Amino acid sequence: MGTLFSIKLYAASEQEAKRAFEAAYARIAQLDEILSDYRADSELSRVTRTTAATHVSDDLFNVLRKGEWLSEETSGAFDVTLGRLTHLWRQARRVRQLPDSEVLREALARSGYRKMHLDAAGHTVRFDVPGMQLDVGGIAKGYAADEALVVLAKLGIKSALVAASGDLAFSDAPPGEKGWKISIDALPEALILANAAVSTSGSSEQNFVVNGVKYSHILDPRTGLGLATNITTSVIARRGIDADGMATAINVLGPEAGLAFIDKQGGVAAVIAVDGKVLKSNSFRALSQ
Ligand code: ADP
Ligand code: MG
Repeated sequence: MGTLFSIKLYAASEQEAKRAFEAAYARIAQLDEILSDYRADSELSRVTRTTAATHVSDDLFNVLRKGEWLSEETSGAFDVTLGRLTHLWRQARRVRQLPDSEVLREALARSGYRKMHLDAAGHTVRFDVPGMQLDVGGIAKGYAADEALVVLAKLGIKSALVAASGDLAFSDAPPGEKGWKISIDALPEALILANAAVSTSGSSEQNFVVNGVKYSHILDPRTGLGLATNITTSVIARRGIDADGMATAINVLGPEAGLAFIDKQGGVAAVIAVDGKVLKSNSFRALSQ
């Protein structure tokens, strides 16, 4: 997933802790193998090689279904079928040049969540056009953090925190504490939270500049180009997969539509830093106490 995961946990003994770390990291490594778009042999890379319906693992299905739901809720601002475009964009960043318009048009034609069809009964995925590619980089880290916590809970570890750069998920508070102390750059005080997830996604991270315009690694699915806005969003949710996906989605939607989207959901809150201002969802106050 192109990042490092770190885990903090409380166990009854060193031996128990060691076993727990090993199991959690093994689960993360397994998910990386399934969900990576860098690996040509990952399940994620393989399913787009045909337009026939393909049976997929629970993990890939879960992530794609959440991606599809987020696309529907955000009118396509968040989209896991932008693989052709995100690959083009990575290359553009390397050579510091915008993609050729013809190549971009071709990649746009092979992108879009409406061209992906999930079937819950058969547990399959199918694509309308050949040559599509998936990229779940906007939600996979949150999902992996959730799944690591599931593995830890099964081993009796009640209090743990999994962090993958800007994506955190955690279970019960550390012993004797009210919660995990989570700092968000835009907020003066740390939040004290338990059994939740916090993801921060910044459009100005991993950016590159062409003709004086600063482009993000997060794409506007309508143009296929990186966002040129400077916005950083943190989302607090029950699950990492939601926090991760929603933080990315809000950056594409922008603050107004982003907050409207968050306020429609139950149990999630957002903090957005944009143009020197800090905006909070209505739900923020309730959730942060
Ligand atoms: P980071 O990976 O830096 O923590 P995000 O969670 O916001 O940040 O994910 C950004 C990644 O999501 C990009 O690198 C790309 O793989 C993918 N992505 C880019 N644009 C979109 C989009 N509009 N919808 C869904 N995923 C996207
Ligand atoms: Mg994300």
